[in-house]
Amino acid sequence: MELAELVGLRPVPGAGLLLTLTRRCPLSCAHCSTSSTMAGEEPDGSHLLRFLGTFTAEDRPELVMLTGGEPLLRPELAAECAATARAAGTRTALLSGMFFAREGRIPARILRAVTAADHFSASLDAFHEREVSRAEVFRAVHRVLDAGVPASFHLTGTGAGDPYLAEVTAAIRREFDDRVPMLVNEVRAVGRAAGWAAAGRTAAAADPDRALPCAMAAWPVVAFDGTVLACCNQQAVDRRPAPAHLRLGHIAEDDWATVRSRTLASPVLRLIRAVGPAHLYARYGPGAAPAGYCAGCRDLPGHPAVTAGAVRDGAGPVGELLDREAARIQYQAGPVELVGRHGCAAYAPLVDLPRTRPAAVGGGPR
Ligand code: SF4
Repeated sequence: MELAELVGLRPVPGAGLLLTLTRRCPLSCAHCSTSSTMAGEEPDGSHLLRFLGTFTAEDRPELVMLTGGEPLLRPELAAECAATARAAGTRTALLSGMFFAREGRIPARILRAVTAADHFSASLDAFHEREVSRAEVFRAVHRVLDAGVPASFHLTGTGAGDPYLAEVTAAIRREFDDRVPMLVNEVRAVGRAAGWAAAGRTAAAADPDRALPCAMAAWPVVAFDGTVLACCNQQAVDRRPAPAHLRLGHIAEDDWATVRSRTLASPVLRLIRAVGPAHLYARYGPGAAPAGYCAGCRDLPGHPAVTAGAVRDGAGPVGELLDREAARIQYQAGPVELVGRHGCAAYAPLVDLPRTRPAAVGGGPR
Protein backbone atom coordinates (compact mmCIF):
# COMPACT_ATOMS: atom_id res chain seq x y z
CA MET A 1 0.00 0.00 0.00
CA GLU A 2 1.46 3.34 -1.06
CA LEU A 3 1.21 6.61 0.86
CA ALA A 4 -1.15 8.27 -1.65
CA GLU A 5 -3.78 5.57 -1.20
CA LEU A 6 -3.49 5.76 2.55
CA VAL A 7 -3.78 9.57 2.71
CA GLY A 8 -6.54 9.52 0.11
CA LEU A 9 -8.73 7.52 2.51
CA ARG A 10 -8.29 10.10 5.31
CA PRO A 11 -11.56 12.03 4.70
CA VAL A 12 -13.70 8.89 4.47
CA PRO A 13 -15.56 8.29 7.77
CA GLY A 14 -14.61 4.96 9.32
CA ALA A 15 -12.16 4.06 6.52
CA GLY A 16 -9.29 4.07 8.98
CA LEU A 17 -8.45 3.59 12.64
CA LEU A 18 -5.51 5.28 14.37
CA LEU A 19 -4.26 2.99 17.07
CA THR A 20 -1.80 4.15 19.74
CA LEU A 21 0.32 1.17 20.85
CA THR A 22 2.20 3.12 23.49
CA ARG A 23 2.97 6.62 24.65
CA ARG A 24 6.53 5.56 25.39
CA CYS A 25 9.45 6.57 23.20
CA PRO A 26 13.21 6.27 23.72
CA LEU A 27 13.91 9.49 21.78
CA SER A 28 13.65 12.99 23.25
CA CYS A 29 12.69 15.14 20.27
CA ALA A 30 12.09 18.73 21.31
CA HIS A 31 8.90 19.13 19.25
CA CYS A 32 7.15 15.95 20.48
CA SER A 33 3.56 16.98 21.16
CA THR A 34 2.79 13.72 22.94
CA SER A 35 5.55 14.50 25.49
CA SER A 36 6.64 10.91 25.15
CA THR A 37 9.17 9.43 27.56
CA MET A 38 9.97 5.85 28.55
CA ALA A 39 7.53 6.20 31.47
CA GLY A 40 4.38 6.92 29.44
CA GLU A 41 1.11 4.97 29.53
CA GLU A 42 0.23 2.06 27.25
CA PRO A 43 -3.15 0.57 26.40
CA ASP A 44 -3.65 -3.04 27.47
CA GLY A 45 -2.44 -5.27 24.61
CA SER A 46 -5.19 -7.83 25.18
CA HIS A 47 -7.82 -5.09 24.92
CA LEU A 48 -6.29 -3.88 21.65
CA LEU A 49 -6.30 -7.37 20.15
CA ARG A 50 -9.84 -8.05 21.35
CA PHE A 51 -11.02 -4.83 19.71
CA LEU A 52 -9.26 -5.61 16.42
CA GLY A 53 -10.74 -9.10 16.63
CA THR A 54 -14.22 -7.59 16.32
CA PHE A 55 -13.51 -6.54 12.72
CA THR A 56 -15.45 -8.64 10.24
CA ALA A 57 -15.14 -8.99 6.46
CA GLU A 58 -18.35 -6.95 6.16
CA ASP A 59 -17.63 -4.31 8.80
CA ARG A 60 -14.02 -3.23 9.19
CA PRO A 61 -11.82 -0.24 8.40
CA GLU A 62 -9.70 -0.36 5.25
CA LEU A 63 -6.65 0.57 7.27
CA VAL A 64 -5.26 0.51 10.79
CA MET A 65 -2.45 2.93 11.47
CA LEU A 66 -0.17 1.91 14.35
CA THR A 67 1.31 4.95 16.06
CA GLY A 68 2.72 6.05 19.39
CA GLY A 69 4.91 7.20 21.09
CA GLU A 70 7.03 4.62 19.37
CA PRO A 71 4.92 1.62 18.30
CA LEU A 72 8.02 -0.49 17.62
CA LEU A 73 8.75 -0.58 21.35
CA ARG A 74 6.05 -3.30 21.28
CA PRO A 75 7.06 -5.15 18.10
CA GLU A 76 5.36 -8.46 18.95
CA LEU A 77 2.10 -6.64 19.68
CA ALA A 78 2.44 -4.60 16.46
CA ALA A 79 2.83 -7.81 14.43
CA GLU A 80 -0.14 -9.41 16.23
CA CYS A 81 -2.29 -6.33 15.60
CA ALA A 82 -1.41 -6.44 11.89
CA ALA A 83 -2.19 -10.18 11.68
CA THR A 84 -5.50 -9.79 13.53
CA ALA A 85 -6.58 -6.91 11.30
CA ARG A 86 -5.51 -8.76 8.17
CA ALA A 87 -7.66 -11.77 9.09
CA ALA A 88 -10.69 -9.56 8.38
CA GLY A 89 -9.13 -7.97 5.28
CA THR A 90 -7.83 -4.74 6.89
CA ARG A 91 -4.39 -3.45 5.98
CA THR A 92 -1.91 -1.92 8.43
CA ALA A 93 0.53 0.98 8.33
CA LEU A 94 3.27 1.65 10.88
CA LEU A 95 4.71 5.05 11.78
CA SER A 96 8.08 4.99 13.55
CA GLY A 97 10.56 7.50 14.97
CA MET A 98 13.35 5.07 13.89
CA PHE A 99 15.15 4.65 17.25
CA PHE A 100 16.25 1.16 16.18
CA ALA A 101 18.17 2.55 13.17
CA ARG A 102 20.94 3.65 15.56
CA GLU A 103 22.01 0.02 15.83
CA GLY A 104 23.05 0.05 12.16
CA ARG A 105 20.71 -2.84 11.38
CA ILE A 106 17.07 -3.69 11.95
CA PRO A 107 16.76 -6.16 14.86
CA ALA A 108 14.90 -9.33 13.83
CA ARG A 109 11.87 -8.80 16.09
CA ILE A 110 11.39 -5.29 14.71
CA LEU A 111 11.81 -6.44 11.12
CA ARG A 112 9.09 -9.04 11.75
CA ALA A 113 6.71 -6.27 12.84
CA VAL A 114 7.64 -4.09 9.86
CA THR A 115 7.08 -6.88 7.36
CA ALA A 116 3.73 -7.72 8.96
CA ALA A 117 2.54 -4.25 7.90
CA ASP A 118 1.45 -3.07 4.45
CA HIS A 119 3.14 0.31 4.70
CA PHE A 120 5.99 1.75 6.74
CA SER A 121 6.48 5.45 7.44
CA ALA A 122 9.63 6.94 8.96
CA SER A 123 9.54 10.24 10.84
CA LEU A 124 12.33 12.61 9.92
CA ASP A 125 12.94 16.24 10.80
CA ALA A 126 15.64 18.47 12.28
CA PHE A 127 14.77 17.35 15.83
CA HIS A 128 14.83 13.64 14.96
CA GLU A 129 18.17 14.04 13.19
CA ARG A 130 19.72 15.08 16.51
CA GLU A 131 18.64 11.71 17.92
CA VAL A 132 19.14 9.38 14.94
CA SER A 133 21.32 10.33 11.98
CA ARG A 134 19.86 10.70 8.53
CA ALA A 135 22.34 8.15 7.14
CA GLU A 136 21.12 5.55 9.67
CA VAL A 137 17.48 6.28 8.84
CA PHE A 138 18.14 6.03 5.09
CA ARG A 139 19.93 2.70 5.56
CA ALA A 140 16.99 1.31 7.55
CA VAL A 141 14.42 2.50 4.99
CA HIS A 142 16.43 0.81 2.20
CA ARG A 143 16.23 -2.40 4.24
CA VAL A 144 12.43 -1.98 4.62
CA LEU A 145 12.07 -1.54 0.85
CA ASP A 146 14.31 -4.55 0.22
CA ALA A 147 11.94 -6.56 2.43
CA GLY A 148 9.10 -5.66 0.05
CA VAL A 149 7.24 -3.14 2.24
CA PRO A 150 6.29 0.20 0.60
CA ALA A 151 7.73 3.07 2.62
CA SER A 152 7.34 6.81 3.02
CA PHE A 153 8.74 9.68 5.06
CA HIS A 154 6.76 11.83 7.44
CA LEU A 155 8.61 15.14 7.51
CA THR A 156 8.02 18.16 9.70
CA GLY A 157 9.31 21.70 9.25
CA THR A 158 8.38 25.28 9.99
CA GLY A 159 6.69 25.93 6.65
CA ALA A 160 7.20 26.38 2.91
CA GLY A 161 10.23 28.65 3.42
CA ASP A 162 12.04 26.26 5.79
CA PRO A 163 15.48 25.54 4.23
CA TYR A 164 15.61 22.21 6.08
CA LEU A 165 12.53 20.98 4.22
CA ALA A 166 13.95 22.04 0.85
CA GLU A 167 17.21 20.24 1.58
CA VAL A 168 15.81 17.03 3.09
CA THR A 169 13.12 16.50 0.43
CA ALA A 170 15.76 16.90 -2.31
CA ALA A 171 18.05 14.46 -0.46
CA ILE A 172 15.27 11.84 -0.16
CA ARG A 173 14.37 12.17 -3.83
CA ARG A 174 18.01 11.62 -4.79
CA GLU A 175 18.64 8.80 -2.32
CA PHE A 176 15.53 6.79 -3.24
CA ASP A 177 15.20 7.82 -6.88
CA ASP A 178 11.63 9.12 -6.31
CA ARG A 179 10.38 5.77 -5.07
CA VAL A 180 9.63 6.94 -1.52
CA PRO A 181 6.85 9.55 -1.19
CA MET A 182 6.72 12.14 1.57
CA LEU A 183 4.06 13.66 3.77
CA VAL A 184 5.24 17.11 4.84
CA ASN A 185 3.61 18.78 7.84
CA GLU A 186 4.29 22.01 9.63
CA VAL A 187 5.17 22.05 13.33
CA ARG A 188 1.84 22.49 15.08
CA ALA A 189 0.02 21.26 18.14
CA VAL A 190 0.19 17.71 16.85
CA GLY A 191 2.95 15.15 16.73
CA ARG A 192 3.91 11.93 15.11
CA ALA A 193 1.22 10.04 17.03
CA ALA A 194 -1.26 12.05 15.01
CA GLY A 195 0.59 11.59 11.78
CA TRP A 196 -2.13 12.75 9.44
CA ALA A 197 -3.44 15.61 11.48
CA ALA A 198 -3.08 19.30 11.05
CA ALA A 199 -5.13 21.17 13.49
CA GLY A 200 -4.16 24.81 13.61
CA ARG A 201 -6.29 26.26 10.86
CA THR A 202 -6.43 30.00 11.32
CA ALA A 203 -8.32 30.56 8.03
CA ALA A 204 -11.52 29.39 9.68
CA ALA A 205 -11.11 31.86 12.52
CA ALA A 206 -10.61 34.66 10.01
CA ASP A 207 -13.62 33.63 7.94
CA PRO A 208 -16.03 31.68 10.14
CA ASP A 209 -18.86 31.86 7.59
CA ARG A 210 -16.88 29.67 5.25
CA ALA A 211 -17.51 25.93 5.53
CA LEU A 212 -14.18 24.23 6.20
CA PRO A 213 -14.65 20.48 6.61
CA CYS A 214 -12.61 18.66 9.21
CA ALA A 215 -11.31 15.43 7.67
CA MET A 216 -9.57 14.68 10.97
CA ALA A 217 -12.91 13.66 12.50
CA ALA A 218 -13.28 10.79 10.03
CA TRP A 219 -11.06 8.11 11.60
CA PRO A 220 -11.53 6.95 15.20
CA VAL A 221 -8.41 7.16 17.38
CA VAL A 222 -7.52 4.73 20.18
CA ALA A 223 -5.73 6.79 22.84
CA PHE A 224 -3.08 5.73 25.37
CA ASP A 225 -5.69 4.74 27.94
CA GLY A 226 -7.88 2.76 25.52
CA THR A 227 -10.46 5.52 25.11
CA VAL A 228 -11.68 5.80 21.52
CA LEU A 229 -11.96 9.38 20.29
CA ALA A 230 -13.31 10.90 17.11
CA CYS A 231 -10.18 12.81 16.13
CA CYS A 232 -6.42 12.89 16.48
CA ASN A 233 -5.97 16.50 17.61
CA GLN A 234 -3.55 15.93 20.48
CA GLN A 235 -5.34 18.20 22.94
CA ALA A 236 -8.61 16.44 22.18
CA VAL A 237 -6.91 13.04 22.58
CA ASP A 238 -5.39 14.01 25.93
CA ARG A 239 -8.32 15.81 27.55
CA ARG A 240 -10.17 13.89 30.28
CA PRO A 241 -13.03 13.73 30.54
CA ALA A 242 -13.11 13.79 26.75
CA PRO A 243 -15.60 16.25 25.23
CA ALA A 244 -18.82 14.23 24.88
CA HIS A 245 -19.12 14.70 21.10
CA LEU A 246 -15.55 13.43 20.58
CA ARG A 247 -15.79 10.31 22.77
CA LEU A 248 -16.72 7.19 20.81
CA GLY A 249 -16.17 4.51 23.44
CA HIS A 250 -13.44 2.33 24.95
CA ILE A 251 -11.63 -0.70 23.55
CA ALA A 252 -12.31 -2.70 26.73
CA GLU A 253 -16.08 -2.43 26.26
CA ASP A 254 -16.96 -1.63 22.67
CA ASP A 255 -16.54 -3.36 19.34
CA TRP A 256 -15.66 -1.89 15.96
CA ALA A 257 -19.26 -1.97 14.70
CA THR A 258 -20.36 0.19 17.65
CA VAL A 259 -17.49 2.66 17.27
CA ARG A 260 -18.04 2.95 13.53
CA SER A 261 -21.76 3.43 13.89
CA ARG A 262 -21.20 6.19 16.51
CA THR A 263 -18.71 7.82 14.13
CA LEU A 264 -21.19 7.83 11.26
CA ALA A 265 -24.39 8.56 13.18
CA SER A 266 -23.30 11.40 15.46
CA PRO A 267 -25.07 14.56 14.21
CA VAL A 268 -22.35 16.83 15.63
CA LEU A 269 -19.52 14.83 14.06
CA ARG A 270 -21.34 14.77 10.74
CA LEU A 271 -21.45 18.56 10.66
CA ILE A 272 -17.88 18.95 11.93
CA ARG A 273 -16.79 16.75 9.03
CA ALA A 274 -19.05 18.53 6.53
CA VAL A 275 -18.67 22.21 7.44
CA GLY A 276 -16.25 22.44 10.38
CA PRO A 277 -16.71 23.84 13.91
CA ALA A 278 -16.17 27.53 13.07
CA HIS A 279 -19.12 27.41 10.68
CA LEU A 280 -21.27 25.84 13.42
CA TYR A 281 -20.57 28.80 15.71
CA ALA A 282 -21.32 31.28 12.92
CA ARG A 283 -24.61 29.52 12.17
CA TYR A 284 -25.95 28.56 15.59
CA GLY A 285 -24.18 30.83 18.07
CA PRO A 286 -23.35 34.21 16.63
CA GLY A 287 -21.47 36.12 19.29
CA ALA A 288 -19.95 32.96 20.77
CA ALA A 289 -16.77 33.43 18.77
CA PRO A 290 -14.50 30.37 19.05
CA ALA A 291 -10.92 30.88 20.19
CA GLY A 292 -9.73 28.84 17.22
CA TYR A 293 -10.80 26.06 14.89
CA CYS A 294 -10.05 23.07 17.12
CA ALA A 295 -10.41 25.00 20.39
CA GLY A 296 -13.95 25.87 19.32
CA CYS A 297 -14.62 22.23 18.58
CA ARG A 298 -13.29 21.03 21.93
CA ASP A 299 -15.32 23.72 23.70
CA LEU A 300 -18.64 22.79 22.07
CA PRO A 301 -20.01 21.24 25.30
CA GLY A 302 -19.79 24.73 26.84
CA HIS A 303 -22.02 26.14 24.09
CA PRO A 304 -25.31 24.25 24.32
CA ALA A 305 -27.09 26.43 21.73
CA VAL A 306 -24.43 25.65 19.11
CA THR A 307 -24.51 21.95 19.98
CA ALA A 308 -28.32 21.87 19.90
CA GLY A 309 -28.35 23.48 16.43
CA ALA A 310 -25.82 20.95 15.16
CA VAL A 311 -27.79 18.05 16.65
CA ARG A 312 -31.01 19.31 15.10
CA ASP A 313 -29.61 19.76 11.58
CA GLY A 314 -27.12 16.91 11.58
CA ALA A 315 -29.45 14.20 12.88
CA GLY A 316 -31.66 13.51 9.88
CA PRO A 317 -31.14 12.46 6.29
CA VAL A 318 -29.87 15.93 5.37
CA GLY A 319 -27.05 15.63 7.91
CA GLU A 320 -26.21 12.17 6.61
CA LEU A 321 -26.22 13.41 3.02
CA LEU A 322 -24.04 16.44 3.83
CA ASP A 323 -21.51 14.19 5.57
CA ARG A 324 -21.43 11.70 2.71
CA GLU A 325 -21.09 14.41 0.07
CA ALA A 326 -18.28 16.20 1.93
CA ALA A 327 -16.38 12.90 2.16
CA ARG A 328 -17.02 12.08 -1.52
CA ILE A 329 -15.81 15.48 -2.72
CA GLN A 330 -12.65 15.34 -0.60
CA TYR A 331 -11.93 11.73 -1.59
CA GLN A 332 -12.35 12.54 -5.27
CA ALA A 333 -10.12 15.61 -4.96
CA GLY A 334 -7.34 13.20 -3.97
CA PRO A 335 -4.43 13.09 -1.55
CA VAL A 336 -2.45 16.03 -2.96
CA GLU A 337 -5.38 18.40 -2.47
CA LEU A 338 -5.96 17.04 1.04
CA VAL A 339 -2.33 17.55 2.08
CA GLY A 340 -2.48 21.00 0.47
CA ARG A 341 -5.19 21.90 2.99
CA HIS A 342 -3.96 20.01 6.03
CA GLY A 343 -0.18 19.82 5.64
CA CYS A 344 2.55 21.97 4.07
CA ALA A 345 0.92 22.93 0.74
CA ALA A 346 4.19 23.68 -1.07
CA TYR A 347 5.26 20.04 -0.69
CA ALA A 348 1.85 18.39 -1.14
CA PRO A 349 2.70 16.82 -4.55
CA LEU A 350 5.39 14.71 -2.86
CA VAL A 351 2.67 12.57 -1.29
CA ASP A 352 1.96 11.02 -4.69
CA LEU A 353 5.18 10.62 -6.63
CA PRO A 354 4.52 9.23 -10.14
CA ARG A 355 7.08 6.45 -9.70
CA THR A 356 5.10 4.97 -6.81
CA ARG A 357 1.87 4.66 -8.80
CA PRO A 358 0.83 1.15 -9.89
CA ALA A 359 1.41 1.85 -13.62
CA ALA A 360 5.07 2.60 -12.93
CA VAL A 361 5.60 -0.72 -11.13
CA GLY A 362 5.27 -2.62 -14.37
CA GLY A 363 7.53 -0.20 -16.23
CA GLY A 364 4.68 1.96 -17.62
CA PRO A 365 5.02 5.61 -18.58
CA ARG A 366 6.52 7.86 -15.92
S1 SF4 B 1 -12.07 20.39 14.48
FE1 SF4 B 1 -12.62 19.01 16.21
S2 SF4 B 1 -12.68 16.99 15.28
FE2 SF4 B 1 -11.55 18.32 13.86
S3 SF4 B 1 -9.36 18.05 14.44
FE3 SF4 B 1 -10.15 19.85 15.54
S4 SF4 B 1 -10.79 19.03 17.56
FE4 SF4 B 1 -10.65 17.30 16.15
